[in-house]
Amino acid sequence: MRTTRENRRGAEPTQSRAERLSAETPRPPRLRGSLPFVVVEARWVLPIAAPPIKDGAILVDSTGEIVQVGKRDEVRRAAPAGVERIDAGELVHPALVNAHLHLELSALAGALAGGRGLVAWVRELIARRAPLDAKAVAHGVALAVSELLSCGTGALGDTASGLAGNELPEDAPFLGARFHEALGAKPEDWEKALASARDRARAPSGNLRAALAAHAPATCSEELLAAVASASAGEPVSVHLAEDPAERRLLVSGDGAWAELLRERGIARPFSPERAASPVRVAARAGLLGPRTLAVHLLDVDDDDVRELAASGASAVLCPRSNRFLGLGAPPASKLAAAGVPLALGTDSLASSPSLNVLEEAAALAIDPVSALRAATLGGARALGEQSLGAFVPGARPGIVARDAVVGARRPEAALLEQPRASARWIALPSRAGSVSP
Ligand SMILES: [Zn+2]
Repeated sequence: MRTTRENRRGAEPTQSRAERLSAETPRPPRLRGSLPFVVVEARWVLPIAAPPIKDGAILVDSTGEIVQVGKRDEVRRAAPAGVERIDAGELVHPALVNAHLHLELSALAGALAGGRGLVAWVRELIARRAPLDAKAVAHGVALAVSELLSCGTGALGDTASGLAGNELPEDAPFLGARFHEALGAKPEDWEKALASARDRARAPSGNLRAALAAHAPATCSEELLAAVASASAGEPVSVHLAEDPAERRLLVSGDGAWAELLRERGIARPFSPERAASPVRVAARAGLLGPRTLAVHLLDVDDDDVRELAASGASAVLCPRSNRFLGLGAPPASKLAAAGVPLALGTDSLASSPSLNVLEEAAALAIDPVSALRAATLGGARALGEQSLGAFVPGARPGIVARDAVVGARRPEAALLEQPRASARWIALPSRAGSVSP
């Protein structure tokens, strides 16, 4: 069975994205049951932190906390007498984690041209973003929330630059973080740029934790990168890093497409050859790389960069479909993983990505399906510091999503990534340990 959304898409291919989504705002239910426990059964249970379980089941309490995961018969035997059973169908997996997106840009879905690299895209973004009013931004956010829920997303790493209208609906159930972005290439402006991001971080954003981001080494002075790093000590922090070779060129030789764009905008960025370094090494020098860092993109990395990243413990948050749209190629996922860099996935914004479904992102990653699915769940949860999410393990509350993918004789992870738009149904919402309602 397909979602009604997909049925409509099939029946009326000319429907706009807004029309497709606005008629339907799914709201995942809280786990219901007359008893304190429920057994959720499926032909395949994907715990993520352990191999798939055929004819599996999960004993879960009424708060969504996982009590036991195993074969159906074992779990039935262990469950209290008379416990309610839910038949979840073909496959269940933990809620997805989209570790990098920009909800505020959702109104620009499909509006920008691709294939010309990052800097040309940014130039067009600046022009297209300027006339957006709060109403347009809010409408885009509402559609994005609907899309994220309908594809089974439970946590976000949302980056926000301060556009009005970007408030999350009060009942949006997402966990994760909203990264308030600092930007400023003039060294003398670092205090102002940091203060602006911190001010914005005071606004409520549902269940998302407030955090900081530095936009990128191309657009932030080293002073600002260092200030964001020290203001984020112990908290998740995000940075776009090595997305386009133009960033390396700016930092290594002081010229190229980024230098031109900064000049056009009247920003004199100082360049000193003795400080020349790759984007990754500039971020490392500023103290911005550590176990709580989300290093987003990492397209243009050399062997030294990969070693630096691996030593830092930072997560690589890869967004392969956005990279492809911009004409930048594919991130070196296997190389990063082989070096021990933890992988997470993001879709980036709808201004450079065709959807917010992180399973479609996983399917686009040139890496084995088991690792790709792990990046779309547990990898993202770890990157965002959400210890209770991403895997079916006792004590966690990762949310339970039933998916109508047809597994057949394939490995279930491979089958799932071949059908990333198979309909999703919420059985339990994710929540943080210690909180009863999400
Ligand atoms: Zn981004």
